[in-house]
Amino acid sequence: MAQSLHTALPLKYRPMTFDDVVGQEHVVKTLRHAIEAKRIANAYLFIGPRGIGKTTLSRIFAKALNCTSPNGVEPCGMCTNCMEISGGRSLDVTELDAASHNKVDDVKPIIDAAQFKPSSSPYKIFIIDECHMLSNAAWNALLKTLEEPPPHVRFVFATTEGDKVLATIVSRCQRFDLRRIQTNDIVSRLKYICDRERISVENDALLAIARGAEGGMRDALSSLDQLIAFTGDKVTEEDALGVFGLVSRSQLENLAGAILKGDVAGILTAIEKFDSAGKNMRRLAGELLKHFRNLVVLQALGSESKSLEATPEQVATLSEQAKGVDPGRVFRICDQLADMEDRLRHVLSVRTLIEMTLIRASRIATTATVEELMKAVRALKSEGNQVELPDLGVQRDQRIAPPPPAVRDPALPSYAPTGGDLAPSAAREAAEPAAKERPSKPVSEERRNQILNDDKINAVLTSVPGAMITDIKGR
Ligand SMILES: [Zn+2]
Repeated sequence: MAQSLHTALPLKYRPMTFDDVVGQEHVVKTLRHAIEAKRIANAYLFIGPRGIGKTTLSRIFAKALNCTSPNGVEPCGMCTNCMEISGGRSLDVTELDAASHNKVDDVKPIIDAAQFKPSSSPYKIFIIDECHMLSNAAWNALLKTLEEPPPHVRFVFATTEGDKVLATIVSRCQRFDLRRIQTNDIVSRLKYICDRERISVENDALLAIARGAEGGMRDALSSLDQLIAFTGDKVTEEDALGVFGLVSRSQLENLAGAILKGDVAGILTAIEKFDSAGKNMRRLAGELLKHFRNLVVLQALGSESKSLEATPEQVATLSEQAKGVDPGRVFRICDQLADMEDRLRHVLSVRTLIEMTLIRASRIATTATVEELMKAVRALKSEGNQVELPDLGVQRDQRIAPPPPAVRDPALPSYAPTGGDLAPSAAREAAEPAAKERPSKPVSEERRNQILNDDKINAVLTSVPGAMITDIKGR
């Protein structure tokens, strides 16, 4: 029986041209311009989380530089140079994984090879992955070549931890920060791939995979691969949710709806259900925050905004929810949820914190604020109505009793500025209530000098902030 070889989806659908790269338009645009204008920097540094295309982009860039018959700035993918780079066989493009090769001896071959001209390409290119792992000695060995590279040499560094790359290195590179890929971009790419592979997948299943991948295309493709292996050529949302411990889109949206309606019972029931179904509660908190952040964006910029991270189905629900609620309240709910996400890192009882925060958020959604009431009052007044101040609805627990009048117990020691044992006579006088009411008179020059020359008094003056010479006259 003939067995067809399965190529893993991340490999099969790895981007081959700049056009294929998803979600990194800002980087791609700059690289294209550089190639067009033939202004190629000596070294590039790609920083970003794993699985978003740093290595892929490095290879496309290398191909674009060395391709013998490019289409504009895009590598052809067919010439010997392109094929050899794709296959990792090119003599002129060297890749080093610094995670496992981080010593001076590992970079020496690069330094030596850089001295020779490329064999069959315009450039000799060195791609160093996870470059933050290189030892200081290895960096130092490389620094000379990096500072004054031969004209045919180019470096591409990639790392997940840009902070760990030495400043002397960063300053010699053109730095690019690659971002997490937006959920809807991942969904479109997955949809494209499923069509090509003739796999029937629910849209919400693709969304669940994209949500689970948290901005990493490689993870999304691996998960899709795994799900297809598990369920065959029909993947449902339920299957995808099970893999990541996520709640479904509709459940998440219903929970957000319950918060906006102030439905405490609905909130608590939903949390109970998610918790007993073993859903990932921290992820739930993060996704709720994302939902409300989308609401803020939608209310401010409209449903067409590019800042909106949502699929068309999500946008429909968001638009519906945005209608009935004041933007200021949504913003405050967002604030509460952001605060919760931070606190979740330190608490043991995740569920309780989520419950309490969501109830607080639901109160924000439904309790009138002072600003809103004042606005209503002003509106009524402008219509010429006789308006009495309304009951602001301050709850009993929020009412603060006025502080008791400050009465000094004569039995207690005095903490007046000049008090203490250092200057008994001065302290006694300052402690007398009458002393405070007595207007202070200017001190004569002679008396002043006499006071200032008194060591004991000087000690008081310099040690007690606020002590004044006028307080101690008549001594
Ligand atoms: Zn080519």
